[in-house]
Amino acid sequence: MIVMERVQPHRILKNEALLRRLSKIHVKRPLIEAEQGKRIAGYQGELASDYYVKKLLQKEYLIFHGLRLQNADDFFQIDTLILSTKFFLILEVKNYTGTIYFDFKHKQLIQHVNESEKAYLCPILQAKRQQYEFTNWLKEQKIELPSEFLVAISNPSTIIKSDPQHYEAHQKVVRPQELVDKINTFSKQYAKDKLTSSELKKVTKILLKKHVPESYDALDYYKIPETDVMTGVQCPECGVFGMKRIHGTWYCPSCKAKHKDEHIQAIHDYFLLINSTITNKKLCEFLHLTSPYIASRLLAKMNLPYTGTKKGRVYMQKGIT
Ligand SMILES: [Zn+2]
Repeated sequence: MIVMERVQPHRILKNEALLRRLSKIHVKRPLIEAEQGKRIAGYQGELASDYYVKKLLQKEYLIFHGLRLQNADDFFQIDTLILSTKFFLILEVKNYTGTIYFDFKHKQLIQHVNESEKAYLCPILQAKRQQYEFTNWLKEQKIELPSEFLVAISNPSTIIKSDPQHYEAHQKVVRPQELVDKINTFSKQYAKDKLTSSELKKVTKILLKKHVPESYDALDYYKIPETDVMTGVQCPECGVFGMKRIHGTWYCPSCKAKHKDEHIQAIHDYFLLINSTITNKKLCEFLHLTSPYIASRLLAKMNLPYTGTKKGRVYMQKGIT
């Protein structure tokens, strides 16, 4: 069963909001766009391999996506953890394009795309690191389990090559389609139960409790001052900021479009970029509203959790941190 579903990383959502609200000629835009493109490709690769991981659902496996845990002062994140009473498996998913080569001597991954060559930290090392960290984490819970790891290359058109002596690359780097067979082989290899089902339940409960979602502040990360963030309600037709609220509708002075709920996106952007809470006054400033009465009606309609009463009321975002 899937214990932790994969969710769109907050980093992607926050960068998306940032790109929406930065000037088209902002100096940091090319860097953010390039990083965002890579993250989206990575996320899509993970989703593509999840399709094959789901084939394990009818079996005894527990599946955790995006688990983030702490050992001493350091955090580690696992793309996919497959846990059973017999063993655990770390699955690292990569979405490279072009031709990739696993270099044995220097423990790096070399990618060739078109005419260019690029080196990356070897995903085998990344997966092994997670295996090591999770083994230690389990030890803290007085649990010892055999373990395995696999690296899945999710893009079907990627050409995978490796050093002839790179045994691990031959054994551990797979296509998503091979996952089920590989895991079934491990299941035969580790046939003995090391945990009872109630122990497995207990460790699952602890894992969910100890999972710490990544906190990410896009403005801080890219060193962008808050004043660079464009305020106002964005017109979905022409992209211009500064729609005006007239008789219960948002009106675009630029292309004359009319929309009802465009403030919702703006409020989400505020939460994603500026602060996880908002007051009526801040909302008026951000949406360019002159009436606090309209602001409080819009906020009330969104059913956001809040604390305080009347003027001191603070509204909080739902779900996302
Ligand atoms: Zn417009």
